[in-house]
Amino acid sequence: MSEPASSSVSLACPIPWGAPTEIQLAHGGGGRLTQDLIDHVFGPAFANPALDARHDGAVLVPPAGQRLAFTTDSHVVSPRFFPGGDIGRLAVFGTANDLAMCGARPRWLSVGFILEEGLAIAELERIVASMRAAAREADVAIVAGDTKVVERGKGDGVYLTTAGIGWVESACAIGPAAVRPGDVVLLSGDIGRHGMAILAQRDGLAFESPIVSDCAPLWPAVEALFAAGIEVHCLRDLTRGGLATAVIEIAEHAGVGVLLEESAVPVTEPVRGACEILGLDPCFVANEGRLIAWVPAAQADAALAALAAAAPGGPPACIGRVRDRPAGQVVLRGALGAERLLSRLSGEQLPRIC
Ligand code: MG
Repeated sequence: MSEPASSSVSLACPIPWGAPTEIQLAHGGGGRLTQDLIDHVFGPAFANPALDARHDGAVLVPPAGQRLAFTTDSHVVSPRFFPGGDIGRLAVFGTANDLAMCGARPRWLSVGFILEEGLAIAELERIVASMRAAAREADVAIVAGDTKVVERGKGDGVYLTTAGIGWVESACAIGPAAVRPGDVVLLSGDIGRHGMAILAQRDGLAFESPIVSDCAPLWPAVEALFAAGIEVHCLRDLTRGGLATAVIEIAEHAGVGVLLEESAVPVTEPVRGACEILGLDPCFVANEGRLIAWVPAAQADAALAALAAAAPGGPPACIGRVRDRPAGQVVLRGALGAERLLSRLSGEQLPRIC
């Protein structure tokens, strides 16, 4: 396991609380390890009133009359540490970003840890410290959790499942059903970094400029669109399957056609070069801190200005427009004017990317 390029977590001192140095299935009888982890790892890292109550569940009070958004996601990324992030950071931002795509301010998360016997406790502590930092960055509280240990060889170190609740701050319903002809598609920043960072790390590829994952919280970008008074019709974070898959899914569900301009899609030179070497299309490569926003064409400039001020990875770009037909079809127009129909990938392009 190599060190992450952007590790902000140091664990120079030995485990102070007398636990074994690695996860053991049988540690002093049933539940002792879990209790030790709660007392010495999870509790101190995630401390908040709901979690500190040490009850079977968190009792939470949303603002009166507020609509809630609720989502869940599992994380099995391999390797667990990569340039720009790790499985813990990914788990926090992944769920927080799905809430943000519902127009919801992320507020509360739960986390389930599936730990394989033999995992170094120091590595778990490093992941937990990263989750704590990410939760602060995304302004969410981890209010409930669970830990299970599986036998050696029956897992792959750590799997994380996060669920999240946020409150919806958009006035209108956000989703594919709100998309209509005349909308434009705005992209918040450059694409392809997360997938290529993972692949490079996994395959031991060394590029001249290392590719760093774009892993980042997206609520500030959404909040900026709302603050600018933008009538946001749809939002989607560009995770597994990348930009192309997200646009195809929305076009299909909305029953509209979309014309994308390839030359308008920002791709950095290192990502473009790595994709060429590996035969991948950056439009299908996963991101963990980029979104597309579907807004009325008349509000495109104001929306781009809002994204430029708040979205990570900018500058944002207007990359396409919605037309009434052919329904469900996404056409990518190349720099020289040639058009090609985008279709979903038949298999998973990059497994265990998140
Ligand atoms: Mg999503």
